[in-house]
Amino acid sequence: MADSQTIYDIAVLGAGPGGYTCAIRAAQLGLKIALIEKDPQLGGTCLHVGCIPTKALLFNAEVYDHVKAGKELGIEGIESPKLNWKTIQDGKTKIVQKHTKGLDFLMRKNKVDVIKGYGKITGPAQNGIVTVDVEGKPVKTKNLVIATGSNARALGDLKFDDRVLSNIEILSLPNIPRSMIVIGAGAVGVEFASIYKSFGTEVTIIEYAPRFVPAEDEDIGKELLRLYKKRGIDSYVSTKVEKVERTKDGVKVTFTPADGKQQVKEAETVLIAIGRAPRTENIGLDKTKIKLDRGFITTDEWMQTAEPNIYAIGDIVAGMPQLAHVAGMQGIVVATRVAGKWAKPVRRNRIPGCTYCEPQIGSVGLTEAAAKAEGYKVKVGKFPFSANSKASIVHSHDGFIKVVADEKYGEVLGVHIIGPQATELIAECVVALELEATVDELMFTIHAHPTLSEGMLDAFSSVYGEAINI
Ligand code: FAD
Repeated sequence: MADSQTIYDIAVLGAGPGGYTCAIRAAQLGLKIALIEKDPQLGGTCLHVGCIPTKALLFNAEVYDHVKAGKELGIEGIESPKLNWKTIQDGKTKIVQKHTKGLDFLMRKNKVDVIKGYGKITGPAQNGIVTVDVEGKPVKTKNLVIATGSNARALGDLKFDDRVLSNIEILSLPNIPRSMIVIGAGAVGVEFASIYKSFGTEVTIIEYAPRFVPAEDEDIGKELLRLYKKRGIDSYVSTKVEKVERTKDGVKVTFTPADGKQQVKEAETVLIAIGRAPRTENIGLDKTKIKLDRGFITTDEWMQTAEPNIYAIGDIVAGMPQLAHVAGMQGIVVATRVAGKWAKPVRRNRIPGCTYCEPQIGSVGLTEAAAKAEGYKVKVGKFPFSANSKASIVHSHDGFIKVVADEKYGEVLGVHIIGPQATELIAECVVALELEATVDELMFTIHAHPTLSEGMLDAFSSVYGEAINI
């Protein structure tokens, strides 16, 4: 550990996936690094109350769904499977603890100085040195990377507790609630709705926008809505939540659906999943030239803020999706640039968006509507999983792959998948977009049989109406 005279090459404020990835890469490139974290453990939202614990629960939910359908697969004697909530919670906690230890190890291995405490920027760089005050102790650095992440937005002045839940409380419920109303059908809302529906909770989901997962292609949102209704999830779009009140035993939500007829629904719990606010207050930004857009920090393509020597990455950055892999790659870009090496900026249209509900969603690039709005003449191909043999083998026929291509040169502009393993299948499409692949090239790219990924071959071919299997 360095002393108070140490001047770091980079100090990173916040040890989520943005901050710790930046720290590791910078250390690999030979820079002297400090990683400042206010919480007792490294890992941020993603590791402790986001990506990792939710996906752990989703795996339990998936296995439980398979077990419930065992008879169909000729597996008998498991007609009435039961969930052991404590084992499920303990399993999730073990995974989080394992990876928290892994991060501590990586910091030691890469000789990153971890400084525990709440950090605040004291002002602009003085003689090229920025100072961060960490609970009275100055940390001096040539470059500062702000990676302070985000918090769940509350609904009005409603406080979170064991009935009005954010992503934090919902991950440590003492038991599986009988009923739950989910407000917001973005990624967080639809994932928790999926988990608790599989666990047997009576789930209602209410979305203000005209479709589910509004950031996705319109067809994906419509399909998810259709499939959630089929799963027995009481689903509403174009619906305004008027009021959320606590009752003696739970909560009461008053809402107005598209037909204008106000409804009241009671449940044991309500999950508020209406977006995430950037943690950019009370970290000393007011003493700098850093510009904010509705609380988010504006940067150039190299994550440089308006204040020299200060960068921002992750959930606090304006105009970028709030995803762990975006935060991590932005951290890599900053570390590499500061080390004076070749780097490539993160491009909005090359970011995979993955939602791990049932069925999964994976997408990259332009939606059909966005491509048209950008002036492209588009050609669209669509291939249903019902025509893919591996999807039949794994009993998962719902959903489709939609390819949006430029009519003139056949360049793939976007791919939108809803269905089995969509979050894995999308990786191929990210590479295709990154390499500016055309539909013609992909139509001659061999995909193994029988796989879900050969559905991609059919989907690319369907742009020219030449899918083999439909
Ligand atoms: P964070 O992970 O929020 O980390 C910020 C860190 O900074 C925290 O540790 C915090 O304590 C620390 N900090 C803040 N202020 C200070 C300060 N002043 N001083 C010192 N330390 C400070 N994304 C995906 O890509 N895939 C998923 O499957 C996924 N699932 C999600 C599920 C849920 C329920 C939620 C809520 C989010 C999910 N996300 C997912 C989003 C993902 O968690 C975030 O995009 C990611 O964590 C952002 O990383 P970050 O480094 O910007 O911030």
